[in-house]
Amino acid sequence: MTTVGILGGGQLARMLALSGAPLGLRFLAMDTEPDACAGQFAPLLVGDYRDEKALAEFAAAVDVATFDFENVPAESARWLAERVPVFPNPHALAAAQDRLVEKTLFRSLGIPVGEFAAVDTRAQLDAEVARIGAPCILKTRRLGYDGKGQFRIKTAADIDAAWEALGAQAQTVGLIVEAFIPFERELSVVAVRSRAGEFLAWPLTENWHVDGVLSASLAPARAGEALAAQAFGHARALAEALDYVGVFALELFCREGQLLANELAPRVHNSGHWTIEGAETSQFQNHLRAVLGLPIGSTRMRGHACMLNWIGEMPDAGAVLREAGGHWHDYGKSPRQGRKVGHATLRADSVEALTQALLAVGTGLGRESQVAPVIARLREHG
Ligand code: AMP
Repeated sequence: MTTVGILGGGQLARMLALSGAPLGLRFLAMDTEPDACAGQFAPLLVGDYRDEKALAEFAAAVDVATFDFENVPAESARWLAERVPVFPNPHALAAAQDRLVEKTLFRSLGIPVGEFAAVDTRAQLDAEVARIGAPCILKTRRLGYDGKGQFRIKTAADIDAAWEALGAQAQTVGLIVEAFIPFERELSVVAVRSRAGEFLAWPLTENWHVDGVLSASLAPARAGEALAAQAFGHARALAEALDYVGVFALELFCREGQLLANELAPRVHNSGHWTIEGAETSQFQNHLRAVLGLPIGSTRMRGHACMLNWIGEMPDAGAVLREAGGHWHDYGKSPRQGRKVGHATLRADSVEALTQALLAVGTGLGRESQVAPVIARLREHG
C-alpha cells in the first residue's frame, strides 16, 4: 500500500486524494489548519511546516511527498527531500516561489516576459517606475497569490501609496516592480512531466480573473495552433530546465498575438480543474502518476469545457446539475469572503451546446456577468 504525502490540505489535496482512490493509494495531508478541507477525505496531520518534529512524523508515514501549496518553506522541502522522495524537487519549488527568480529564469530560457526589476528601497522604486513607465505593478516577490500582495501604480503619483502599502515587506519577502501588460487575453498551459522525462500538456486554456482571482476558464482556448505550440514549447523548456516532475501551470498574457509569461505554479492548478471531466486523464490523476513513477495518461480532451469558480459561498447546485454536461464540486469549506469554496465544470460536445449550457447556468444562478466573457468568446470564435 503506497501512501502519498501532501504538504497543504486544501481543495487541491482533496481533489488529489479523490483522484488517487482508484489507484489504491492512501494519503496523508499536512496543514496548519485543523479544518483543512482535504481532511474530510484523508488523514490530516496538523502542524507547522517549519516544525521538524511534525515533518519527521510526516516523512515516516509517507512513501513520496508532493505539494498542494507552493509556499511551503523551501528549507522544509529540502529537509524532507533528504528523507523521502519529493516531487516536484525543492529547487523547482524554490524557483517558482520567488517572482524575481522565476522571471529571470523565463528570460534566460528565451521565454518573453514584460519588463521587471527588483526593488529594495524607495529610491529604487522611483528609479524603476521612471525607467519602466506607469502603469506598473509593485508586487511582493514571495508569498503573494490570487492578486494579494500587489499594488497597481497607475501614475507616478501612486508611488507614495504603493510604498506605504508594501514598502515594509522589501526587507522580508522582497519586492518586484513589473510593467503593466495591457493584455487581450490570459492563457495558461497545464502540463505534466513524468519521472522518465515524458512531457504532455492539456489543450491551452483561456482564463478570466475578477479582482485578481480566477473566475472562469475555457478549454480549448480559441487561440490558434501556432500560439498553442509556442506556449507548449515554453512549458516544456521550463519543465526540462527545472527537471520538473508532476503537474504545473504556466500563466501567460497574450498581447497583440504575442505571449508573455506571468508566472509558474508548481502544482495542480485551478485553470486545470476542467480536466476532471473534460480530459481523458485529469491533472490530478496525472500528477499522482508522475510522482509515483507510473506512466502518464493521455491529455486529450473531450469536446469543450468551461469551469466556473465559486468564490465566497456556494450557489445553489440545481442549475448546474440540470445540465447534461454539468458537474459540481463543493470543497466542503465554510463560506468566507474571497475564499475559493467550489467550482462547476460544464462539458459539451459542441460549441453551441456549451453556449446554451452557460446561458442557462448564468441565468439560473443570476451570474450572467461571470459567464458573459466566455459566451462572447465562443460567439466570436466558434
Ligand atoms: P498574479 O498573482 O501575478 O498571477 O496576478 C493576478 C492577476 O493580476 C493576473 O492574473 C492578472 O489578471 C493581473 N496581473 C498581474 N500582473 C500583471 C501585469 N504585469 N500586467 C497586467 N495584469 C497583471
